[in-house]
Amino acid sequence: MATFLVLKNQAKMPIVGLGTWKSPPGKVASAVKAAIDVGYRHIDCAYVYQNENEIGEAIQEKLKEKVVSREDLFVVSKLWCTFHEKSLVKSACQKTLSDLKLDYLDLYLIHWPMGFKAGTDIFPLDDSGKVIPSNTNFLDTWTAMEELVDTGLVKAIGVSNFNHLQIESILTKPGLKHAPVVNQIECHPYLTQEKLIEYCQSKGIVVTAYSPLGSPDRPWAKPEDPSLLDDPRIQAIAQKHNKTTAQVLIRFHIQRKVVVIPKSITPSRIAENFQVFDFELTDEEMATILSFNRGWRACGMSNSSSHKDYPFSVPF
Ligand code: NAP
Repeated sequence: MATFLVLKNQAKMPIVGLGTWKSPPGKVASAVKAAIDVGYRHIDCAYVYQNENEIGEAIQEKLKEKVVSREDLFVVSKLWCTFHEKSLVKSACQKTLSDLKLDYLDLYLIHWPMGFKAGTDIFPLDDSGKVIPSNTNFLDTWTAMEELVDTGLVKAIGVSNFNHLQIESILTKPGLKHAPVVNQIECHPYLTQEKLIEYCQSKGIVVTAYSPLGSPDRPWAKPEDPSLLDDPRIQAIAQKHNKTTAQVLIRFHIQRKVVVIPKSITPSRIAENFQVFDFELTDEEMATILSFNRGWRACGMSNSSSHKDYPFSVPF
């Protein structure tokens, strides 16, 4: 089984990457270094995670030590919602590049289809706690993303949290120069995304699964929420393979040809989450895991549910 998927631009995207949301400055650098040391070559970043500067320091250290070369790394970042105006896209990308201390990104994603009011607030909210939208259109934002490819700041562009209708509108946009190569979406046994994955793969778009362990450290977690890592049915499958529940949750995506980006700042877990190439779930186990789908989202972005481009109001 290959450890990468080939994108539309012919780049090889490592199928397991390190997630970095909620990895605090002070912890994230050692996590990135530990990950590179045990073989990760794909790091998932975003401006909004507010830790790209320290990730950049860690990458620099590993490049200087010659543990990896830049060409062997696959670094992803994302354009935040307050930078959807066409005039803001290039400088947002340059800020990320400067923090990451890189001269190009392997992949840059529109983080969400929704534009928010530009300014210093990452989440500009009105008095009722709802996000204040911008009057931008993600098709225009896409044109500015295409220019990043043409000027060499990024090797490829993609989207995140887009539903299939939103992707379709990019694919059918008049004058489209570069189609999205990736859609990064929440995916795990409680949100199996069969229709959206089938749609993306039919268009040659690789899917990346975020929150593969159910994002237990998400700030809005409630005790009554379901927990993938504690699910006895997944624990039982893990036991059969002499693997951990996390490893089964990660392997599940690999066998669907879906890239997966578990986050951890714990060196032992970072290593564990990469030990997923030495076992195989049976077809029956895959079907059983798929049957656990319950349409549950860890990241529903409910404060923007009335936004015109809110992605989760359609079935897929
Ligand atoms: P996740 O990877 O599902 O879960 C992370 C949590 O699981 C952390 O609390 C981590 O703890 C714990 N963990 C990691 N490995 C473990 C193991 N082997 N055993 C037990 N617990 C383990 O959650 P996520 O951070 O939401 O998603 C992963 C990445 O996807 C993010 O970091 C981010 O890069 C990306 N993402 C993207 C979007 C988007 O909108 N595009 C949204 C959400 C996430 P420790 O760190 O304490 O070890």
